[in-house]
Amino acid sequence: MKSGFEKVAIEHGDRLKVISIEHLKELKEIIGDFKDQEELNGFQKWIINELYQFEILEEDFKVNSIILIAIHHPFYAKVDFLKEGKKKTFLSLVRADFNKTEEYLRKYVEEKGYFIEVTKNLPMKRLGTHSGLAKYGRNNITYIDGLGSNFSYASYFSDMMCKEDTWSEVKNAEACDKCNLCIESCPTGAIRKDRFLIDNQKCLSCINEIPGEFPAWIPVTAHHTLYDCLICQRNCPMNYEQVDNVIECVSFTEEETNMLLDGKPIDTFSKEFKTKIYMLGINEWYEVIPRNLKILFEL
Ligand code: SF4
Ligand code: SF4
Repeated sequence: MKSGFEKVAIEHGDRLKVISIEHLKELKEIIGDFKDQEELNGFQKWIINELYQFEILEEDFKVNSIILIAIHHPFYAKVDFLKEGKKKTFLSLVRADFNKTEEYLRKYVEEKGYFIEVTKNLPMKRLGTHSGLAKYGRNNITYIDGLGSNFSYASYFSDMMCKEDTWSEVKNAEACDKCNLCIESCPTGAIRKDRFLIDNQKCLSCINEIPGEFPAWIPVTAHHTLYDCLICQRNCPMNYEQVDNVIECVSFTEEETNMLLDGKPIDTFSKEFKTKIYMLGINEWYEVIPRNLKILFEL
């Protein structure tokens, strides 16, 4: 049965779990075991050794739980660019509205007399799958009933107690048992049949976000987004109900397109231009946007 808090998240189009803080230590051990058992590349080691941080922050309250929330967002936006008088349309991911979600979370917990504070970088996908909120797809992306993969995670420490402990072994999505669509559609062969972990050094989602020249082995036709990659998610049956949740009407003028291609500083942009940039999350990957946009214009 859904708790009142979970129902509030659903009313806002999101999903959440309150996870007992006792599982944080366990989560750290799980990640440690995973590191020992798997052959990891440099980037994966960096994620585990440097990015993840498990310590409980010194707060003004006793931390009893982690609130993990999956914040819905549109699947992607079709974005028009103008260059030399010609319009071209490329895809961009759309940023979830973290502020709006935090607002209603704070309101809910504070009305009940509790506090929340943003955690440091936890392994959210692991947290999501162990908590029962999500399931892993074969493409290593997590999926939630009713949202597909159209969400971003956020996590908070709280003094609220976890009333129903749903922690369990990681669950893989049953839909993957008889499906190979992501493997077949991945343009770079990053998803392996014989191993759960994808080859992130081949995954366009990672490559698109690392500065520098694109590796020569990536076909130009693989490029389709300003950052990240949408192909395996667009082809996934678990997203069939999500694929039409698209923003159609974002467009950049020729002047704006040229400013992006030249990597001009965002703080020099007009208010309207900035609004589009933040809504698409382009600002988070700004260093690579000129390169990524240039290759899209080569298509
Ligand atoms: S495309 Fe198929 S195999 Fe891949 S994640 Fe989706 S359901 Fe699973
Ligand atoms: S995100 Fe793109 S490159 Fe990465 S596994 Fe999915 S389809 Fe392949």
